[in-house]
Amino acid sequence: MRQIYFICFQSLVFGIYFPKIVASFSQKEMQFYSTNGKSKEVGIEEAIFQGLPPDNGLYMPKEIPCLSQEFWDTCDTLTFNQIAFEIASAFFGQEIPKEELQALINQAYDFDAPSVELTEGLYCLELFHGPSMAFKDFGARFMAAVMSYFLKKNNRDIHILVATSGDTGGAVAQGFFGVDQIQVHILYPKGKVSEIQEKQLTTLGANVKAYEVDGTFDDCQRLVKSTFLDEELREKYNLASANSINIARLIPQSFYYAYTYSRLKKKGLPIVFSVPSGNFGNISAGIIAAKMGMPVHQFIAATNVNKVVPAYLESGIFEPINPSISTISNAMDVGNPSNFPRMKALYGDDYSEVKKHVKGYFYTDEETKAAIKKIDEKYGYLVCPHTAIAYLGLQDYLKTEEEPVSAVFLSTAHYAKFLPDVEAVLGRELAIPERLQSLLSKKKEARALETDYAGFKAFLLKNL
Ligand SMILES: *Cc1c(COP(=O)(O)O)cnc(C)c1O
Repeated sequence: MRQIYFICFQSLVFGIYFPKIVASFSQKEMQFYSTNGKSKEVGIEEAIFQGLPPDNGLYMPKEIPCLSQEFWDTCDTLTFNQIAFEIASAFFGQEIPKEELQALINQAYDFDAPSVELTEGLYCLELFHGPSMAFKDFGARFMAAVMSYFLKKNNRDIHILVATSGDTGGAVAQGFFGVDQIQVHILYPKGKVSEIQEKQLTTLGANVKAYEVDGTFDDCQRLVKSTFLDEELREKYNLASANSINIARLIPQSFYYAYTYSRLKKKGLPIVFSVPSGNFGNISAGIIAAKMGMPVHQFIAATNVNKVVPAYLESGIFEPINPSISTISNAMDVGNPSNFPRMKALYGDDYSEVKKHVKGYFYTDEETKAAIKKIDEKYGYLVCPHTAIAYLGLQDYLKTEEEPVSAVFLSTAHYAKFLPDVEAVLGRELAIPERLQSLLSKKKEARALETDYAGFKAFLLKNL
């Protein structure tokens, strides 16, 4: 049986033989460096509120802390929130007191991440039980809770601006809804998000404001970027972003990998994770869990025809696709995956290491649709297009695997979020979960915006 273990010197040396040293070891503050190497290292609070380092790289923890062998041996006795706490406290334990950290994890996660066994040894990890019914809830809810902790501590208010083409906005809106001292402003392109997605952004009210921009997603992004670069606005208001490259959204995604390991470890089989990937944040978080000592046999990066990373794994050449290609798995229509430098950094920027630990596969819309159909026929189980791609990647990988394994594909969204496509493939009407159904009858409230920055700025100056 081949098992890939990252060498976890800290836990081997200190965890087992010198447990006391580990205790004092973890007392120092975690520093975050920029993957571009030109910005100074910062603590977690600055990394979260700054979002992007000034050199336009990505913040990464200076070291990935190892959890003790004892933790990995006994994690099956822990709850999701206890496992989340152990991981979070290895990163933030010094800056956030333990009781507060556990409390904010409990506040973020009141939903489960079950692995449903479709047939012997084949599991679907359902990451859609959060408020927006997509896996981005795991990152957004944690980030909201951590930001709120620091804002309370410093007695500060903040405005968060986000541009969304769909799923991110819903998770951010839900994640920050009702959080004190934070106002959220979400810009989305008029007529270019699905009805359910639009309702998720526009019906919450309170501290969540939606802006319907008469333009494209790129226009929304430009307006947000211009705001962050505007000296006058920066001086007047505390502005922050909540986009997916924020380190506080990345780290919590490792929680569900460790949790899945804890639930499957009693089977005694090596674990394979197939991850439907776009910006490669999700899979990077899995690799972080592995570097913390979680035994993993293989990671699989499954994409749609925006196959930049599978092509890189094949050839060693990273070539962005510009513009990205539209597909039915549109949350993965990414032509230049923003977390790719992180994934590489986790393997010491060594191509042969990345290639060894991550296998890449990509699929067309036709193949995706056929998979949705097959999973329905074979297992009576409904999946969204992204999840179908993870399933396909897993099946292709398993053809090359000789050992028995626990094979897990990640379900990143509930099928009902992509209802028209899934219904068209299956040729029948499908049930919509109550949480989404009730949204459809709620009243949309959004402010119409033009695409010019001057108009947006005047609006902000008058209304913030
Ligand atoms: C965002 C998203 C993905 C891609 O995740 P990355 O972390 O960007 O790789 C996959 N599926 C769904 C449903 C998503 O919303």
